Amino acid sequence: MRLLVVEDDADLNRQLTTALQEAGYAVDTALDGEEGHFLGDTEPYDAVVLDIGLPKMDGLSVLESWRREGRSMPVLILTARDRWSDKVAGIDAGADDYVAKPFHMEEVLARVRALVRRAAGHASNELTCGPVRLDLRAGRVTLDGHPVKLTSHEYRLLSYLLHHQGKVISRTELTEHLYEQDFDRDSNTVEVFVGRLRKKIGPDMIETIRGLGYRLGAERDG
Ligand code: CA
Repeated sequence: MRLLVVEDDADLNRQLTTALQEAGYAVDTALDGEEGHFLGDTEPYDAVVLDIGLPKMDGLSVLESWRREGRSMPVLILTARDRWSDKVAGIDAGADDYVAKPFHMEEVLARVRALVRRAAGHASNELTCGPVRLDLRAGRVTLDGHPVKLTSHEYRLLSYLLHHQGKVISRTELTEHLYEQDFDRDSNTVEVFVGRLRKKIGPDMIETIRGLGYRLGAERDG
């Protein structure tokens, strides 16, 4: 899962980014509205954390522009404390949720988790497929009840496949949702991570659909 954080306070931006990375997301960042708008317009994010008060282009304008252009990713806005009008304006502009500053990081993490899983059609924080279970809140994976240790890239890959289980996911889509913008994608191909993940959760969990991509938890038809 890949996120965008748009926040002009450099310290807060770093805190958010670090916390979200530690929670298992690939995170791109922008420090002003123009850059944030551009990234959200051109890259496929699973959710965006968007500050309202931003230089160059304010958060509401960024959001309105994305929605006008048909960008439908979930957006969590950061609003000033006690500015109820910001919350109303933000939600009317297309935000899915808000957190008022100052906030506890755990609240942002919980709301982002909920937005990402809801967008993929999941109501629960536990995603399961056969013997594989992912607890999104704890970031823990088990196989038949036994803990499985995954690297951050393996975790992102499994999480994406579990969020979209039963669907065929192309390598391009996986690449776009697993890596940060400036990541060296060539030497860390999706195929390598799929291979490593298969060794950890069993060779048959992830099916290769020739020419199309991968599928987790498919219904076998003969
Ligand atoms: Ca700000």
